[in-house]
Amino acid sequence: MMRRTSLWFTLAGLGVAVFVACSADPPVNRKYAPYGSENPYTGIQDRSGNWNQGYNVSQNSEIRQATPYNTQQTQSPSSIYSQVNVRKDYLSYGSRGRSRKSMNPQYITIHSTQNWSKGADANRHALALKRGALGRISWHYTTDEYRAVQHLPTSEQGNHADYDGPGNRYSIGIEMCEHPGNSRSATLERTAKLAAWLCLKYDLPASRVVPHYKWPRHGKKPPNKNCPHFLLNNGRPGTKWANFVKVVDVYRRRMGGR
Ligand SMILES: [Zn+2]
Repeated sequence: MMRRTSLWFTLAGLGVAVFVACSADPPVNRKYAPYGSENPYTGIQDRSGNWNQGYNVSQNSEIRQATPYNTQQTQSPSSIYSQVNVRKDYLSYGSRGRSRKSMNPQYITIHSTQNWSKGADANRHALALKRGALGRISWHYTTDEYRAVQHLPTSEQGNHADYDGPGNRYSIGIEMCEHPGNSRSATLERTAKLAAWLCLKYDLPASRVVPHYKWPRHGKKPPNKNCPHFLLNNGRPGTKWANFVKVVDVYRRRMGGR
């Protein structure tokens, strides 16, 4: 999600170096694989022992195999949105991260931070963006296991995908956190709900939810970034990505999306 191949920056006042480029080799973490290629249908057993038909992953819930979730279930957009737990914390209008260019979103682009620094959660990224630590780089939301923080209005272009390309001009950027201890399954769940809610808001099919990989960056090798790396198969969209989009689509339809 950036202009340079890699960019280390120091978080002023916190002294934490964080790596936001999606270019390094990611560490393999097999602990969380809810969107693995094995089975798109997993469920969560609640405290009463009933299967929750879906991906409502709570912090300490255990992911087990279950029957396919109930696509007939309905949920209101406001209830999904409240589950996402969005905190709006925009970059100030005059900051470099604000393009001030209007946008009519046609896509939702999913990234992962590749920031494995301790404590590099959504709030910390919001702080880094607001302090100007990322220069012109900006995106719309950062998600972690507990919340989503919104950094830009969705009616304004960010700078997270492909310079002057369509990824920046027409897509909402969502970064998923990867700091130590953060639940990947809960983060994916939150991200899927947020993407679904945005699909509904802008009347987009789930197929418009795309990985950063979709947007080639001219002059870069490779032009198509392995991002978000844990939802790609060998650096390309495959079964893991397809499964993630399926989950997005379940939530989209539950809210009444066509
Ligand atoms: Zn990216």
